[in-house]
Amino acid sequence: MRSLSLSEINDRIASTTAKDVENVMYVFDFDDTLALTDSAVYLIRNGVRSKLTAAQYAAHVPSDDDQFDYSDFSTLVNARSTELIKFVKHINELNGHVYILSARTTDGPIHEFVAIHQLSVKRTTALANGDPTRKKETIEQWIKEHSPSRIEFFDDSIRNVELVHSLNSMVDVEIVCWHVKE
Ligand SMILES: [Mg+2]
Repeated sequence: MRSLSLSEINDRIASTTAKDVENVMYVFDFDDTLALTDSAVYLIRNGVRSKLTAAQYAAHVPSDDDQFDYSDFSTLVNARSTELIKFVKHINELNGHVYILSARTTDGPIHEFVAIHQLSVKRTTALANGDPTRKKETIEQWIKEHSPSRIEFFDDSIRNVELVHSLNSMVDVEIVCWHVKE
């Protein structure tokens, strides 16, 4: 597991050639990995509704009766791209395979973002579930379907990164996980 600060993207671009991307699946999270938005998650606990920042939500340990309102994430709210989008464009130029895997409830806003930035994405999946286990299971499924020689996984959530990284001991494919940081 490695961490990738968004200021290091240019080095990654310079060091990634067409040969490097052959039969590699590049899997990107959406929120706070490719896109910054003003969407917020709302926590409803004991009848009180409060707004969580992305960082607060990522670190939140839910209790049983917590309820969440994710409705902000069904649209694109003031979306800006992160530096990592330059790397996606580079992979596109090398004809590499880009996937987007998000916990969002719907992939519509992601398709909208992809169109705005003219990215080429083989597949966009919105899991409608924030449980990191679902990302791990999806990666396992994609390995079976596509037999890549390597996977590179990019996510700003350390829990997602750790869980996907743990697949390395279960599958034959090398999974390089990048914890994306601002
Ligand atoms: Mg994220």
